Amino acid sequence: MLDTLGNLKRTKYCGALRASDADTNVVLMGWVHRRRDLGQLIFIDLRDRAGIAQIVFNKELNPEAHAKAEELRSEFVVAVEGRVIQRQKANAEIATGEVEIAAAKLHILNNSKTPPFQIEDQVTASEETRLRYRYLDLRRPRPHRNIELRHRVFFEIRKTLDEMGFFEIETPILTRSTPEGARDCLVPSRVHHGQFYALPQSPQIFKQILMISGMDRYFQLCKCFRDEDFRADRQLEFTQLDLEMSFPRQEDIFEVIERVMERTLAIVGLQAKRPFRHLDYQEALRRYGSDKPDLRFGMELNNVTQFFDAAREKLQIQGNVQAVIAPGAATWSRKQLDELAEHAKSAGARGVYTIKVTAEGISSGLEKTLGIEAIRELADTVGGKPGDLIVAVAAKEQIQHHDTSLGVAGNVRLYLGDKLNLIDRSKWEFAWITGFALFEWSETEKRWASAQHPFTGIVEEDLDKLETAPWECRSKGYDLVLNGVELGSGSIRIHRQDVQARMFKALGLTDEQARQRFGFFLDALTYGTPPHGGIALGLDRVVMLLAGEKSIRDVIAFPKTTAAVDLMAESPSEVGADQLDDLGIAIKESKR
Ligand code: ASP
Repeated sequence: MLDTLGNLKRTKYCGALRASDADTNVVLMGWVHRRRDLGQLIFIDLRDRAGIAQIVFNKELNPEAHAKAEELRSEFVVAVEGRVIQRQKANAEIATGEVEIAAAKLHILNNSKTPPFQIEDQVTASEETRLRYRYLDLRRPRPHRNIELRHRVFFEIRKTLDEMGFFEIETPILTRSTPEGARDCLVPSRVHHGQFYALPQSPQIFKQILMISGMDRYFQLCKCFRDEDFRADRQLEFTQLDLEMSFPRQEDIFEVIERVMERTLAIVGLQAKRPFRHLDYQEALRRYGSDKPDLRFGMELNNVTQFFDAAREKLQIQGNVQAVIAPGAATWSRKQLDELAEHAKSAGARGVYTIKVTAEGISSGLEKTLGIEAIRELADTVGGKPGDLIVAVAAKEQIQHHDTSLGVAGNVRLYLGDKLNLIDRSKWEFAWITGFALFEWSETEKRWASAQHPFTGIVEEDLDKLETAPWECRSKGYDLVLNGVELGSGSIRIHRQDVQARMFKALGLTDEQARQRFGFFLDALTYGTPPHGGIALGLDRVVMLLAGEKSIRDVIAFPKTTAAVDLMAESPSEVGADQLDDLGIAIKESKR
């Protein structure tokens, strides 16, 4: 027989009990984490949101409660009335370890089937099992901590932005698509036969319209939806801090975000180094081989192409050759070098060449091809010191106007930084990346496409080139990068209707297509649009980094798998014939 909650009132969280609570009476409620039956004494670890407390049932002192405690099993839900007493031997492992509760009365409020895995952080069950039973998985302390942290971050962002005069304004979830590069998630309309809503990939157009409406400063912690092909650690739906302001200079937007990040980091006791570093896109590529460089360590790239010029044909290399110095790796074994080469090749390297610098001199497999003199000169030029391994890479693929060797070398840099433990994990290195090109060539569509999105502003001096030399147009876009992770991007926008119309044209849209897709926005732009700009940050990633987790799934209460499936609720799912009928939809045979 189960007991009822009746008029029982909890007086304290289990996890909040401390030595100062000794000699008080408490009513605790929670889940049976563990039961140890020593005959005369039964010990229960009782768990709630705040932590675990030890309850003691003493047969001699309280036979009734003791007898009832014998029925308890893992995950039963109970209320315990008792007295907090000082433990004879404190348990330093847990926060409540100095006290225990001598139980006077036990109420069994609910029972539980045996869970498929232990509710513990060292869980061995597969992620699939855990996601299927997410309600049990979430009972573990670590997800609890992560979800609480997520709440604190969201709350602090709201507070900080409110203090800076931003309004949180909701934009529609059922909307018309605003193209941001990914596929839309579509929702059929029942009332408007044959028509569809799209879930927002971002509230981009709405937030710009809010600026036209004079709202001046908008933000939203919003869900966005992008139907991309499955990629590790991407979610179909994710949460952004979306923000827009009127009359901003670029540095005003940076200031807002830096303050938000500063306050967010402070939640976990960290200090953000401000102002954040600024890095030009080209420079980031040249020095770190990435537009989202991990600045927690150096190991910058060196262009050593000139040393390979004579041996190009022999080595069958076309583009540039980039080198990095791996300090201390001169002693690497054959196996380590093979693994490095394998990694570089999987990252797109055609050739991977190493030069060992030791106190005795220099040695390299390149000796026969380049000659020892050239190798020595190369080592001197990049500054190789005894103990160093110089790693040079050439890319396999060559793309016009694009130095592919940089990306490959950037990847090798990260690999070496990790293997050699050069990445200081306690550092939080933010950087603003600016100076992006406005367009990039889309090989699949054979046209110029927006590097970011079609509302990104154009550097004024480049306006004339929009029709004649689009590849030379510089954008007013920027990215925020933290420890090698892109947290988000934004821009000063196009606010002139004529420029926006030219932009659509440059992207290959006819006037008709532009009107059909963006007519309402083009119209809105003609009614006194202020200069404006903004940004969006991926909050799942921010929380993931703050929590020290490797996957965003660990900081989302109900994540989907990489195959976009919710294993617990079993979505997506088929729907009934009558529902389809209502929508006027028939399912075709699968394309695949
Ligand atoms: N809408 C853009 C995005 O979601 C960000 C922005 O430009 O504000 O990536």
